[in-house]
Amino acid sequence: FTRQDEYNVLMLGLDSSGKTTLLEKIKHIHTGVPGMPAENILPTVGVNISKVTMNRDLIKFMDLGGQADLRGIWEAYFEDCHAILFVIDSANGERIDEAGDVLIKLIKSEELEGLPVLILANKCDLSDAGSLVKIKEMVNGVADLLDSRDVRVMEASGVEGTRVQTAMDWLHSRII
Ligand code: GDP
Repeated sequence: FTRQDEYNVLMLGLDSSGKTTLLEKIKHIHTGVPGMPAENILPTVGVNISKVTMNRDLIKFMDLGGQADLRGIWEAYFEDCHAILFVIDSANGERIDEAGDVLIKLIKSEELEGLPVLILANKCDLSDAGSLVKIKEMVNGVADLLDSRDVRVMEASGVEGTRVQTAMDWLHSRII
């Protein structure tokens, strides 16, 4: 008998970036249980926690609501985290800078120092190549802040499931 290790992944991003949809897809991939139909998913208010087993590890995903007035509660969840999954709506070029500002605040938090960060350029089914370039430029702009950690930018679609498994494999490999 080996003890199951538990890890916490913070899922953060602006409202409507697709965190809830992505979490449903992750659960579906890892449990086989169908996720909630997209039309039933409401924007996250408060915290949406899901546990998923990957290999033998239990990964707890904490999807924190992204609305500006909720960002203040994020810090209560920062302790005891093992990785950050930062979700950006790549179909909405107008909010990439706003997402960047939130990302900067996060990576400056002492509690999150050194944690691996996966930046998901989500909704790749809707976006064009230009937005991935824009997101990569934004990330490059904060490269000095990300210096000491594992960082990866990946395109994905929570609706279609594109690269969700690859993204989870990367996260899992960095956590343990
Ligand atoms: P949250 O506020 O970050 O939890 O975002 P939601 O998961 O509620 O998603 C916000 C909206 O974007 C919903 O209408 C979703 O159906 C839609 N959405 C989320 N992910 C994707 C995606 O990968 N592709 C497309 N086309 N739409 C998405």
